[in-house]
Amino acid sequence: PVPGVLVSACLLGEAVRYDGGHLLSTHPLFKHWQAEGRIVAVCPEVAGGLPIPRAPAETRGGDGHAVWAGSAHVITRDGENVTDAFLAGAEHALRLARRRNCRMAVLAAKSPSCGNREIYDGSFGGQLVAGQGTAAAHLEAAGIRVFNQYELEAADRYLRSLT
Ligand code: SF4
Repeated sequence: PVPGVLVSACLLGEAVRYDGGHLLSTHPLFKHWQAEGRIVAVCPEVAGGLPIPRAPAETRGGDGHAVWAGSAHVITRDGENVTDAFLAGAEHALRLARRRNCRMAVLAAKSPSCGNREIYDGSFGGQLVAGQGTAAAHLEAAGIRVFNQYELEAADRYLRSLT
């Protein structure tokens, strides 16, 4: 099958964010990939069993890689530990990516699940730190390249380089 592109569902306009909203991107590359039959939508947090809306969550003690190593946790603003749901959602995203031949992903920047470069630091004070979300970390550890919605041209170049 043609290589797929795993995409954060909120970027496609699905109202799956913690606040019940979405982050629809109208960039033409999404339409182009859709026409090529490549788009595979996923919301790791909803796939992990979390509701819409839900309390905002941040990662404490490190980034998504540290969550997988057991040294960091994902905590909601109310103090609930939602690490297990984040891990389950990330596993779902990887299974889906493999099933649909996705060797790359475009995920929403700065999310505790989907962020590929930066996430919030766990203080709920709006502070960003370098690091990846739980799903982005899991996908990249499995060799799936993760871009964000501001890196679409680079993502398309990478997609064209896949044989
Ligand atoms: Fe979007 Fe990812 Fe958050 Fe789901 S987990 S709402 S796909 S950023």
